[in-house]
Amino acid sequence: MSKVILELNSVTIRFGGLTAVDNVNMKIEQGTIRALIGPNGAGKSTIFNLITGIYPPSAGEISFLGARISDLKPHAITEMGIARTFQNIRLFDEMTVLDNVKIGQHCRTKTGFLGSIIRGPSVKAEEKAITEASMEALKLMELEHKADELAMNLPYGEQRRLEIARALATNPKLILLDEPAAGMNPQEKMTLVAMIRKIQSRGLTIFLVEHDMKFVMNLSDRIAVLDYGRKIAAGSPAEIQRDPAVIAAYLGK
Ligand code: ADP
Ligand code: MG
Repeated sequence: MSKVILELNSVTIRFGGLTAVDNVNMKIEQGTIRALIGPNGAGKSTIFNLITGIYPPSAGEISFLGARISDLKPHAITEMGIARTFQNIRLFDEMTVLDNVKIGQHCRTKTGFLGSIIRGPSVKAEEKAITEASMEALKLMELEHKADELAMNLPYGEQRRLEIARALATNPKLILLDEPAAGMNPQEKMTLVAMIRKIQSRGLTIFLVEHDMKFVMNLSDRIAVLDYGRKIAAGSPAEIQRDPAVIAAYLGK
């Protein structure tokens, strides 16, 4: 058994009367690709919001590499090595591809974006490091030749890859991808599968939410299934495909 990178221990969150995530347990091993699937409103994005510290759980705890993170602020969690993308594209359309990646790191450095405008000597060194890390991330997502283009001029599939590049540039150990293939055509999806495998081969752990079953089955080592906030199944792609509870959740009860 390899090392557990992320553990959810009886995690629950309530929004008023709604239990969006209900007593969920999960263990993700380092270096693997884990998928989280389930109908709309099942609580998948909320699990990512809990892991990244946007909401504290109402009950239960989350640990990363053995350390409890469920009482930390989002920037501290990023600092520890967890990065994410969002279900809906969050790019600055009128900024360049490179600046869209750099801004993800300015948010987590001491000087921040304002400091980089004022520019002391140490800030300049930091700026250089940020640019290098950003270019490296763009290279991984095969976008380095588009660094100076405006984000809005990229085709849709490349905009989604740009968001992954922004997450990668923070040098994470674990990356959370919320519906990374949504809206992509089959060709763009195939390219994305290859890139996610490449990210994994660099030693990263990937946790993704995705609706495209072919994409999920093809890519994941293990899959967890959520329905009304509860984990109703977990296993290998082959096990999940023949699980009666999963089939019922998808076909409607
Ligand atoms: P999924 O990503 O699986 O489609 P979500 O995690 O976005 O589902 O949402 C799960 C449920 O929690 C939904 O019913 C949603 O409306 C509710 N929810 C999510 N965030 C909030 C919030 N901040 N306040 C109230 N309800 C929320
Ligand atoms: Mg969602």
